Amino acid sequence: ATANIGVVGLAVMGSNLARNLASREGNTVAVHNRTQARTDDLLREHGDLGFVGSESMDEFVASLRTPRTAIVMVQAGPGTDAVIDQLAERFEPGDIIVDGGNANFQDTIAREKALRDKGIHFVGTGISGGEEGALNGPSIMPGGSDESWETLRPILESIAAVAEGEPCVTHVGHDGAGHFVKMVHNGIEYADMQLISEAYDLLRRAGGHSTEELVQVFQQWNEGDLESYLIEITAEVLGHTDADTGKPLVDAILDHAGSKGTGVWTVQNAVGLGVPVSGIGEAVFARAVSSKADQRDAVRRSTTNRPEPPPVPETFEDDVRAALYASKVVAYAQGFDLIRAGAAEFDWDIDLSAMARIWRGGCIIRARFLNRIAEAYEKNPDLVTLLADPYFAQVVADGDAAWRRIVGLAAASAIPAPGFSSALAYYDSLASERLPAALIQAQRDFFGAHTYQRVDREGTFHTLWSGDRSEQRL
Ligand code: NDP
Repeated sequence: ATANIGVVGLAVMGSNLARNLASREGNTVAVHNRTQARTDDLLREHGDLGFVGSESMDEFVASLRTPRTAIVMVQAGPGTDAVIDQLAERFEPGDIIVDGGNANFQDTIAREKALRDKGIHFVGTGISGGEEGALNGPSIMPGGSDESWETLRPILESIAAVAEGEPCVTHVGHDGAGHFVKMVHNGIEYADMQLISEAYDLLRRAGGHSTEELVQVFQQWNEGDLESYLIEITAEVLGHTDADTGKPLVDAILDHAGSKGTGVWTVQNAVGLGVPVSGIGEAVFARAVSSKADQRDAVRRSTTNRPEPPPVPETFEDDVRAALYASKVVAYAQGFDLIRAGAAEFDWDIDLSAMARIWRGGCIIRARFLNRIAEAYEKNPDLVTLLADPYFAQVVADGDAAWRRIVGLAAASAIPAPGFSSALAYYDSLASERLPAALIQAQRDFFGAHTYQRVDREGTFHTLWSGDRSEQRL
């Protein structure tokens, strides 16, 4: 046995992660893939990295030093289960199986429990950054036991992205915590992409910006508070010309957005936990709406009164920027609320500030303003919402008027901006002295005797709505 770490699954993510590992001082990396050709390709193309190849699972496991550590990078679901089973049959107590795929955190909790009974550490690990991140430094979100973290820490720190001198990896919490946090990361990614695409649409359709102007705007935004990977690639995407037509490629792409499901998981879990992640929800729904070709077609044909966009104000471009930033703050605030609620529900000790720090590099949502989020939770780990942090309260206050102008303009122009408008509604809900929820409580009590509480007296009450309308204290 010569390898201190192994990788099973050598498609794009696994082979890049294996190369990343093998290029770090002190690592000898064993590799295995169900289909031998992938292993052969990796050894042929990157043999200089000293991989230990194996044709069978037995050979792979035999090539690992104890305690054995294997990272599984195979298709989530049954494929992952199959490989975990094969490893578990061969591993001994104290060995570590890392699942780096996009597993559902509930599966991770179940797998961890089953393997813990055998003395094997199972570490569900979120890895973000796509193929480029896997190769050059991803953001890594491991769950699992404290003991396994001791072994994994130096290895994962050596391959993670670095932001402000710190590796973008930390022990998130036990069992499914890492995959839960990765799920929320992906949900936030959905929201961020939706908001950016709304900004693009408004600039284009209401503002009449040309492609060149759009590229410039996003490049400029990437110099300020909005600086982030997603804004940066947006400028690049918009600037890309289609070789066939000579026009912007984005204009030739079918406007039906797909998804692989992590956004849906985020919303499902948030609903279950009672956390309003409306920004992520709107993003998931907006993708679904975009793909309803028949409904879009039917309504477009039956709608005759499309308003002309009104003229935009002088401040338009900056207004869109401010609306985007404020809406983004809301989406992230909601995502962090969900992590906190998940931690409470599943008994994880998650440091929210550390989550913001490990997302500053390597991952898809890496952004300058994550520094501010890290600071906010570091100063006050019990912060009830990011919107109450002085810095973010100021961002939202500064953008307030612009945000309202943009949401109003979008409605008047018949340009859908569900992300911007629902974020504003969420903010206004939290900021309102009184909400119409009082009426809902009265309605619920009317038809279902669900009771209500009063603002002026302690206790639980029910009104005999269909009787003499007297109020009973229960
Ligand atoms: P895929 O998700 O396309 O998975 C292909 C790999 O899974 C191949 O190595 C394949 O082996 C293996 N596999 C599938 N079924 C089985 C099985 N029953 N037994 C053994 N091996 C099996 O590869 P990716 O590299 O794109 O992703 C790997 C994991 O990383 C996934 O869980 C994905 O969700 C996650 N991930 C991907 C990201 C990305 O940007 N692509 C980002 C972050 C995470 P074979 O060659 O024999 O078919």
